[in-house]
Amino acid sequence: MKNNRGIRIGRMRIKPRFFVFLLILVAMIAGFIWGGLKIADHFRGPSEEAPFEETIGGIPVIRDLIPEGAIGRPGTLRTIRYVVIHETGNTAETAGAASHNSYVHTEAMKQKLSWHYTVDDHEIYQHLPDNEVGYHAGDRLEEKGGNMCGIGIEICVNADNDYEVTLENTAKLAARLLDVYDIPMKALTKHQDYSGKNCPEHLIEDERWDEFCGMVEKELKARKA
Ligand SMILES: [Zn+2]
Repeated sequence: MKNNRGIRIGRMRIKPRFFVFLLILVAMIAGFIWGGLKIADHFRGPSEEAPFEETIGGIPVIRDLIPEGAIGRPGTLRTIRYVVIHETGNTAETAGAASHNSYVHTEAMKQKLSWHYTVDDHEIYQHLPDNEVGYHAGDRLEEKGGNMCGIGIEICVNADNDYEVTLENTAKLAARLLDVYDIPMKALTKHQDYSGKNCPEHLIEDERWDEFCGMVEKELKARKA
């Protein structure tokens, strides 16, 4: 309500000039809070690794970490912000999770190559702690990038592996990570998002990325239920 002497709020009568001042004050306080939160996010310290789980959705998880000091395991602690999905691109028979575990152990000794998990149709291998940087997204150590802040998951595509079951297993692992690290769905990403590489190849080329995200969302809801 407005009359000659100002704006009435309930029993109070406020002069227009004071009302504008109040509005500016409220906007400034909101701005300070927003800015403060942004700065706090920027300086958020490294994440703690969630306790290891021997099975995820009934699938055995084998933790066989790349040795500390390996070129591919810089040991840099970081804030976990994303889950980064890959496909191995290796269709050779027996190129499952165990085989890729051996591969990444060998390669990480020689070059900046590593990721956190490999999933096939019957098991999951973990190669790096969740809260350590890996080299999988092709964006070096860019601030808030895929290597710096992502947990890399490789989906196996070997000929003797059931790809559909592997997708289901990967969705369970991804949902667990989103859940325990409080990562939003929109931070479930593809390798392609960081370096443009055609990876995960099948999910992109067969236009199944949205379907995969739906599978993860369903697993996430089931976990939270
Ligand atoms: Zn990739």
